[in-house]
Amino acid sequence: MSDLILALNTGSSSVKYRLIDLGADDTIASGLVERIAPGGHRDAIRQVLDTLAAEGHRERIAAVGHRVVHGGEEFTSATVIDDRVEQRIEALAPLAPLHNPPALAGIRGVREAMPGLPAVAVFDTAFHAQLPESARTYAIDREIARRHGIRRYGFHGISFQYVSRSCADFLGHMPERMIVLHLGNGASAAAIAGGVGVDTSMGFTPLEGLVMGTRGGDLDPGVMVQLLRSGMSLDEVDDMLQRRSGLTGLTGTRDFRDVATAAERDEEQAIRALEVVAHRLRKYVGAYAAVLGGLDALVFTAGIGENSPLIRRDTVHGLGFLGLSVDVARNETVTSRTREISPEDASVPILVVPTDEEQEIARQTAEQLRT
Ligand code: ADP
Repeated sequence: MSDLILALNTGSSSVKYRLIDLGADDTIASGLVERIAPGGHRDAIRQVLDTLAAEGHRERIAAVGHRVVHGGEEFTSATVIDDRVEQRIEALAPLAPLHNPPALAGIRGVREAMPGLPAVAVFDTAFHAQLPESARTYAIDREIARRHGIRRYGFHGISFQYVSRSCADFLGHMPERMIVLHLGNGASAAAIAGGVGVDTSMGFTPLEGLVMGTRGGDLDPGVMVQLLRSGMSLDEVDDMLQRRSGLTGLTGTRDFRDVATAAERDEEQAIRALEVVAHRLRKYVGAYAAVLGGLDALVFTAGIGENSPLIRRDTVHGLGFLGLSVDVARNETVTSRTREISPEDASVPILVVPTDEEQEIARQTAEQLRT
């Protein structure tokens, strides 16, 4: 029996892995290697494979699926990795300097340790490959945009794909017009028409859109110009945008739970921060309902979306005109399964769907190797 797929998520300082038996719908092994120093990824991969060997699983790995954040214009679906694909992923590094190089190190690390093992790259951008021109175009000088590949790419696609499918399974059909809110440390919204992504809040980079743990989302680009002119260095501005904005910028803490607890204690900053978060969410729900021409389902997922009744309540507050409301008891119910939190007779179902990116990586990997 050797039908196990290793789903690998190699981030800047960690490697998350899960060995999945898709046939039996079972996780055989999983783990996390943390605090990886720059350049230490190949060692970390070796450590993962050694652990799997010690547990007697290594020989049963049939294929590996690598999460790759940025697939650029070129990769519009998961892709079997060969030398050319590896080179193309390397060439995309400037578009995702924090994310693609570790993924590439993961790809190379596995290939070194287990040459010949089939490998597939699963891209976070691929779900958004069919964004219409109008949604993916920034209204800037066309020649500059072309030269630098500047357009909306969108991220969290592996999660959006998994959640769309789960949602369709739960409802018995794929909703024609659906909005998914992926609310974790990073957060983004997607407008999805019949299972296809038609707009999304993250853009050229994962900085745009919703308010996140350390990133502020939408920002007038004039702010950056002003800060640079006023003497802040490029690195300082970059650091502010990546690490010192969002919840961190507004409250000093990046963890949503801590901010929610502070708000319960009536701390003014935390209360104001949650208002900014909810305002942005409501704005995107309204905008995407307009993009889709109506709404047939709203879905919450990821750490905050799955676990915070507060954010779900505040997001739909005042959106009754779109057919959205939460049932208080259903919203407060804690389970780890897909569930509906709108009232029984609601015209638009609101769902909470636990996301599972590793499962989706494994599924797409198997799919690519079958074709
Ligand atoms: P990542 O983007 O790193 O995968 P997650 O999807 O794990 O992030 O989400 C992390 C966020 O989820 C954190 O802000 C954390 O505070 C929040 N979170 C986790 N559990 C809860 C909970 N029970 N209530 C509210 N927020 C929660």
